[in-house]
Amino acid sequence: MERDALIIVCKGCGVSNRIKSYSEDRLPVCAKCRHPLIDKDENEAHARYTQKLKDFYNLPDINNLK
Ligand SMILES: [Zn+2]
Repeated sequence: MERDALIIVCKGCGVSNRIKSYSEDRLPVCAKCRHPLIDKDENEAHARYTQKLKDFYNLPDINNLK
C-alpha cells in the first residue's frame, strides 16, 4: 500500500501518473510525454502545505498554538 501516492492525469496525453512526493525544486512531469503535471505555483503551494502539516505534527504540545 502506498497511502501517500497521488494519481495525476496528464493534461497532455491523458496517461495517469503516480506521484509519491512533491519538491519545490522539481516539478513532476508525465512519464510518457514529459508534460508538466502541475504548474509551478501549485507545486510550491502543495510543498508548503505538506511542510506545514509536518511542522504541526512535530509540535510537542498543541497548547503552544495561539
Ligand atoms: Zn503525458
